[in-house]
Amino acid sequence: MEAFARPRVVVSKCLEFEACRYNGDVIYNDVIKKLMDYVDFVPVCPEVEIGLGTPRETIRIVKKGEDHFLLQPSTQRDITNEMRTFSDGYLAGIIDTDGFILKTRSPSCGLKEVKVYASTEKGPAIGHSSGLFGGRVAELYSHLAIEEEGRLNNFTIRDRFYTKLFTLAAFRNILPQGLQAIKSFHEKNQFLFMAYSNPTLKVMNRILKKEQENGEERTIQLYAKAMNKLFNRTARSDSNRKVAYEIFKKFQPHLSAKEIAFFEELLQKYANKKEPFSSVATILKSHAIRFEDSEILGQTFFAPYPEILLEISDSGKGRDY
Ligand code: SF4
Repeated sequence: MEAFARPRVVVSKCLEFEACRYNGDVIYNDVIKKLMDYVDFVPVCPEVEIGLGTPRETIRIVKKGEDHFLLQPSTQRDITNEMRTFSDGYLAGIIDTDGFILKTRSPSCGLKEVKVYASTEKGPAIGHSSGLFGGRVAELYSHLAIEEEGRLNNFTIRDRFYTKLFTLAAFRNILPQGLQAIKSFHEKNQFLFMAYSNPTLKVMNRILKKEQENGEERTIQLYAKAMNKLFNRTARSDSNRKVAYEIFKKFQPHLSAKEIAFFEELLQKYANKKEPFSSVATILKSHAIRFEDSEILGQTFFAPYPEILLEISDSGKGRDY
């Protein structure tokens, strides 16, 4: 088994790393703890970075007109500009980053579902939005792997996040090695990319074919741009099913009617969320071993991230979209 590149992930510092929450707490998180052996984390706490200190009075997002402000009700302090300036400066300076894990529902770090209030007075939320730092992350780095820690309790979301994260890290690692390395990376990722977007995969194929015309440097630039476009969309479970069937068609002529029926039934169960994708992948891999199909066996589609991270169980909470 090939070694996996180590992704670099910016993480909200209060998740496992430091007791920097407003109340002086740290939040323990099993997903992040497990990832520590495979990921280089870069922890950051935007609220501490702008000098709010720990512990501190709470802050909230308040809507005035069409604009959102970050305010501290107990002091009436407006820290919108400080947070915006910090976010822009920090995010412009991060290098070689493959993803983000941000604290759910924080007015600073949250990506969505952060409560928005009408004023600093007591009262119910009037809507939801992103936090100021989290929102800027989503605007600037939508092609990277970005998630909130709460959503990573859901297996499907976690699986998609890891797939994107480790593929981006692998690409970043081979980029300095030039076009030949990119071509071999592309070969191994054919079916994975197909699951994200078949039209973009075709564009990537064409870019690599036009190498002579465009030259190495331009080809690499175009390929990297297409990769960003590919990962700007989510691979749907339906795409996984279609790609799995595409692979299965290679073996189908050599299989018995019972074997074909068994696989089709399994694929249907996966489509109905009664089976994890790993069951489908295991059958395909066993056919690839039986028919000695090294091209299929080498596909990242079957193992896009370290197997030890593949935990099918989840909290049962959260949505997989
Ligand atoms: S959610 Fe973000 S700003 Fe709040 S404590 Fe955690 S790291 Fe700091």
